[in-house]
Amino acid sequence: MILIDKFYIGGEWVAPDSTTTMPILTPSTNAQIGQVTLGNSVDVDRAVAAAKAAFETFSMTTKDERLALLRRLAEVTRARMDDLGHAISKEMGAPITMSCQVQAYSGLGHLEGYIAALESLDEQETLPSGDILSREPIGVCGLITPWNWPINQIAQKVIPALATGATCILKPSEHTPLSAQIYAEIVHEAGYPAGVFNLVHGDGPSVGSAMSRHPDVAMMSFTGSTRAGSAVSKDAADTVKRVTLELGGKSPNLIFADCDLETRVREGVASCFYNTGQSCDAPTRMLVERSVYEQTLVIARSAAEAQQVGDPAQEGDHIGPLFDGLQYDRVQAMIQKGIDGGARVLAGGLGRPDDLPVNVQNGWFARPTIFCDVTPDMAIWREEIFGPVLVITPFDTEEEGIAMANDTEYGLAAYLQTGSEERAIRVARRLRAGGIHINGRDAGYGSPFGGFKQSGNGREGGLFGLEDYLELKVRPPFAL
Ligand code: NAD
Repeated sequence: MILIDKFYIGGEWVAPDSTTTMPILTPSTNAQIGQVTLGNSVDVDRAVAAAKAAFETFSMTTKDERLALLRRLAEVTRARMDDLGHAISKEMGAPITMSCQVQAYSGLGHLEGYIAALESLDEQETLPSGDILSREPIGVCGLITPWNWPINQIAQKVIPALATGATCILKPSEHTPLSAQIYAEIVHEAGYPAGVFNLVHGDGPSVGSAMSRHPDVAMMSFTGSTRAGSAVSKDAADTVKRVTLELGGKSPNLIFADCDLETRVREGVASCFYNTGQSCDAPTRMLVERSVYEQTLVIARSAAEAQQVGDPAQEGDHIGPLFDGLQYDRVQAMIQKGIDGGARVLAGGLGRPDDLPVNVQNGWFARPTIFCDVTPDMAIWREEIFGPVLVITPFDTEEEGIAMANDTEYGLAAYLQTGSEERAIRVARRLRAGGIHINGRDAGYGSPFGGFKQSGNGREGGLFGLEDYLELKVRPPFAL
């Protein structure tokens, strides 16, 4: 049993004020592997006071001093990569190979992107008016992260705060405290001054809300569901904080007849199922040019049937379980809605996959599922399912494809597959989403990540990620 009964506040591991606890369950067996103490508003007050005191000096550090700390953070992160990968796999069910190579590695990838961005950041410049503009850290930041990409999200918030000279309190998802705990050890070992980074475990309505409402917190950076993001915005409104939000998605994948169909459709199916469909930017709606629709369905079905599901503790490129029982029930309910609504099940369906290894029979495994002939009025077309469920529908013209792709309240990512560069550029321009993926190519670390519409605001990653944590100050040149 892993006992998490200390928070990291003011550079020390301290006993929380709160005595409320929650079990930590592992998704592949639903067994309890640990227990975490959930904080309260007194714990938040302590952490905010430590971050506020540390801001006085940390905000005055030079860029070179902060770059040196970030480089040290990279060394320590690299050394703890395996620990992070194993913790993530246990707490949220990502298969171990992917957990180490992709989930944990993102902590380092983003860090390298932020180091390059900070090196190129002009902290001070002279404006055409002759006035001097400086970029300064915003203050104490409250950072709230979800469970699906735990270290990816922590890195996307903690690193830009540390890079700009801001100080912070991290509240990771209450469901994934293990990787967050290791991350705090990493920051500590990297040698950050006491109070610059603080970790308080807890749930949204208590710790998350106390942070959002706190008068000494200057900014909230939130990643999670649209529902909770909207609650953070409301809580933050009275103290007029800056709020940045990275929320959900229902990203379209436009398949044009002139693409390399076999490769792109297989890849589209695999990307939808990746991380067991629990990625905010997953391509979950496949829109297919009608002339290749039937051919696409054949390829997609074969790709879904070939998708291996298995024990996350085993090496390999299979997918793991859904994250918990609630998530499993939600995904099953959405599959049922699809069936009831008249969509055709092309692959998978309700229940658990056959042939699960005996040791994980109690895990939250779902069948990789594809619905075809889905219409835009169906819930499975419109709502984020957050499981390995792909919906497919045909379109007739480019115009219609773009309109259907954009007909969503979300705008995080959009994918398009075409053999024509002209078409790729033309369509990409019209898609209302923060990140466009073309023919299997994605943006790299250091590029901005974030959404249009109800997928959020602000951007994470690289220079644009730093900007969210900076205030602008202007003064005239000195004269007597
Ligand atoms: P969630 O909204 O339930 O929880 C996310 C975090 O918010 C957790 O730390 C939780 O404790 C906290 N929280 C919950 N209610 C809160 C409240 N009232 N005030 C303050 N904090 C609160 O989401 P989840 O289930 O952990 O994550 C899945 C969701 O996150 C999906 O919708 C997914 O699309 C989204 N997501 C978005 C991105 C992105 O970058 N856009 C990345 C990953 C996940």
